[in-house]
Amino acid sequence: MSDHIDHPRQRPKILVADDDMNVRLLTRQCLEAEDMIVVEAPDGHAALDAFVRERPDLVFLDVEMPGMTGLEVCRRIRGMPQGENIPIMIVTGSDDRESIDEGFDAGATQYKTKPVNWSLLGRDVQYMLRASNAFNVLKRQEDRLRYLAYYDPLTSLPNRRSFNEQLHRILKRSQRMGTYAALMFIDLDNFKRINDSIGHGRGDRLLVEISKRLISELREDDAISYFTENSAEAADDGGTEIARLGGDEFTVVVSDVHSTDDVERIARRIIDSLSDPIPLQTHNPVVTPSIGIAMYPQDGEDADSLVRNADTAMYAAKGDGRACFRFYNEEMNARSVEQLKLEEDLREAMRSDQLEMHYQPQVETLTGSVVSLEALVRWKHPERGMIPPGEFIPVAERTGQIIELGEWVLTEVSRQCLEWDNMGLACFRVCVNISPLQFNQPDLFHYMSGFLSRSGLDPERLELELTESAIMTDGESNIKKLSQLKSLGLDLAVDDFGTGYSSLSYLRRFPINTLKIDQSFVADMRSADGAAIVDAIIALAKALNMRSIAEGIETQEQLAYLADRGCDLLQGYYFARPLVPEDVPKAVLRDYSEDIKAARQAFGES
Ligand code: C2E
Ligand code: MG
Ligand code: MG
Repeated sequence: MSDHIDHPRQRPKILVADDDMNVRLLTRQCLEAEDMIVVEAPDGHAALDAFVRERPDLVFLDVEMPGMTGLEVCRRIRGMPQGENIPIMIVTGSDDRESIDEGFDAGATQYKTKPVNWSLLGRDVQYMLRASNAFNVLKRQEDRLRYLAYYDPLTSLPNRRSFNEQLHRILKRSQRMGTYAALMFIDLDNFKRINDSIGHGRGDRLLVEISKRLISELREDDAISYFTENSAEAADDGGTEIARLGGDEFTVVVSDVHSTDDVERIARRIIDSLSDPIPLQTHNPVVTPSIGIAMYPQDGEDADSLVRNADTAMYAAKGDGRACFRFYNEEMNARSVEQLKLEEDLREAMRSDQLEMHYQPQVETLTGSVVSLEALVRWKHPERGMIPPGEFIPVAERTGQIIELGEWVLTEVSRQCLEWDNMGLACFRVCVNISPLQFNQPDLFHYMSGFLSRSGLDPERLELELTESAIMTDGESNIKKLSQLKSLGLDLAVDDFGTGYSSLSYLRRFPINTLKIDQSFVADMRSADGAAIVDAIIALAKALNMRSIAEGIETQEQLAYLADRGCDLLQGYYFARPLVPEDVPKAVLRDYSEDIKAARQAFGES
């Protein structure tokens, strides 16, 4: 790609119109740091004058200005011949859909909401300039339609059609030069759920941010060609190409790959950069990607088979717990057939009593008695034997079968509890895992209140285990949701705590009873980092008046450490494995106080 496209002019000139002097000053500082020339205007009329006089490359318009609003300035600029294609960034105080639409109607190219993230400003402007400049190149060729046909209007990334051309071109080139190439399929994890919960306006902004991150991440080692307006020139161009296929699907095609290590490094960088929380005002969603990779020529010699195999690898990455990348291999095809079979079998399993619940005791550190049990689902497959939940819960999540499964679990648990009650057992608490999809059902509250009254189960006996990422994704609206559930008299726990991104400000406002320390930290307690995390979670629970529970305790040493640090509840194979219901009556009578004492004597630190 020739240089003039990346650097439109020697130094781009930016017009900044804002009545707030401080904002102008900060903007100037940020942009001058990027080697841009800044022209300021304190109101709408001055902005129009400056636009005509200075012929800037890009315009910043504050919406609220005395005299003439930024929207009006925008409309007038668009009315001038030299203003037809200039990139205009509207800066608004509000991010509701309506005012954003108004901005776009007035002709804005992009909008930003206040407060402006100054650290990203320079990069955003560079990005807009580059897109606009590329656009101008096309326009010179009187090929505006081509832009619309080949570029995604939301993110300005090449679209599916461009992708097909990119891929064909790079494959041809690789074949000619005898080099390797890689195709990456990137799909955002749980995007639909996030999109539904943060609203589609913010969902769009999230996609824009993701595409910016992809570009800036991949630009570092390779010049990305945004436009292949000159196919003769582009024909010999290697490098890295990005595209958005639609929705939350992105692709990256890398040419001149020397080894899979190169590709692996790129995949890791993509995962790292996408997985940082995305600041969208009150929401800071975390969107991890799953990446499937197919290599040319090993995994396919033509575009179609590469695409198919990268897609298969992407599903394998999802199946392996998301937020990861997978290279295609031939077993995957066999596995995707297997997954399909699993889906069908699971449908059958729910009808024909192949599922059953096991219960794992939770021990109170102070007394050594079993005060609660975690209900864990099991699948006795007629041919394959016991299938662990880690294998079929993700399938059920993906297909939506988890809703039915979750309801079955609750019904089964309540039936079981009443049976234990009839035996005269002490009233222990039962903890039930609620999957993210279940938690996100809009009618969860009604379902739960209906379920409680139908089943006759005392709500105080039930604790719902929710995952950290499910409740943190949309903190503000989940406060309400959790409070509603809480008002039914249930207890709420955060499962696998520490593995997601908790915002402390939300955690404090969530009506949570229990923090469940993820077992990976318990397993890692011998390392200083692992121990520090465990200490911190226990301290956090105490400060927030919540219970702390550690799961996955397998050794006496782990038990001693956790008891010493004042962790309230303990769960793990060291005490008991998940038990069949018939073994529960005996298990809840066990007294572990001697075991705890012995452990503390053997390993006690204080
Ligand atoms: P989880 O909720 O974090 O459950 C704890 C897992 O740790 C269970 O695995 C349990 O058997 C295992 N575990 C307990 N003590 C130890 C130990 O000392 N060492 C080791 N290595 N593991 C221990 P399980 O039963 O295979 O369940 C895996 C996951 O599947 C659960 O993780 C939960 O996320 C999900 N799950 C299980 N049952 C249900 C259910 O009814 N509904 C939903 N939505 N998810 C479920
Ligand atoms: Mg759990
Ligand atoms: Mg857990």
